[in-house]
Amino acid sequence: MNLTEHRYAFLIDLDGTMYAGHSTIPHAAAFVGTIRELSLPFLFVTNNSSRTPEAVAEHLRHMGIAADADEIVTSSQAAARYVAGSERGRRVYAIGEEGLKTALREAGMELVEDRPDFVVQGIDREFSYRKLEAAVQFISEGAEYVLTNPDRLLPADGRLVPGAGAISAAIQGALQMKPAVIGKPFSPIMEYALERLGTAAEVWAVGDNPATDIGAGKAAGLRTALLLTGIATPDNFEDLLARAEVVPDLVCANLAELLVRLGLR
Ligand SMILES: [Mg+2]
Repeated sequence: MNLTEHRYAFLIDLDGTMYAGHSTIPHAAAFVGTIRELSLPFLFVTNNSSRTPEAVAEHLRHMGIAADADEIVTSSQAAARYVAGSERGRRVYAIGEEGLKTALREAGMELVEDRPDFVVQGIDREFSYRKLEAAVQFISEGAEYVLTNPDRLLPADGRLVPGAGAISAAIQGALQMKPAVIGKPFSPIMEYALERLGTAAEVWAVGDNPATDIGAGKAAGLRTALLLTGIATPDNFEDLLARAEVVPDLVCANLAELLVRLGLR
């Protein structure tokens, strides 16, 4: 029975949708199992720029969710695709971690410490005044400033820690200018994911965050499903949607309900 083949495709958020820290969200593994069985195309899309796709896939497998590195889309890969597709040049000053540096190298960019064509910045837990100074100098001299994702705070072990957006605030504060932003809620990461998905099916952006997941899905012209399993909950989702000024196509308590609503189960 393959009537549903390629009827739908999915761009699926990770944190709050597949897992929360080190625990799996209920129905996440079963959802992935079902869409695999139905041969529906999908990719996991994460704003996280620090990990390589292999490390993200490993994390998913560790939690009992089958995943391959080539099923992961990171904001670092989308940022690397963005700079590699530009005519500006191949020299990049990177402020970031392994996930960003690997993605840039794999896209054919050269990581340099002087005269860059781009400053590409993600989360960097060894960010310093020296790096801030270099970024500010290079951007004022004409390098294009690209930010992997705008998240100011990230959940980590039950608390919130500063994200790539907080580091960017320092650079933007010095320069009074805005970067090209790749990650959700902006559309470049979704457009890159769609390019990799390569399907004519109806694509659904699925996630727990109205502002980022639903916002990015809308910006890229996709169908959108909000899950009430992470940032959005049954108690707060109406407020969050109003604040983000977005209206998803579907609001589902969990991923099992999404399968039912789409007639997949
Ligand atoms: Mg999320």
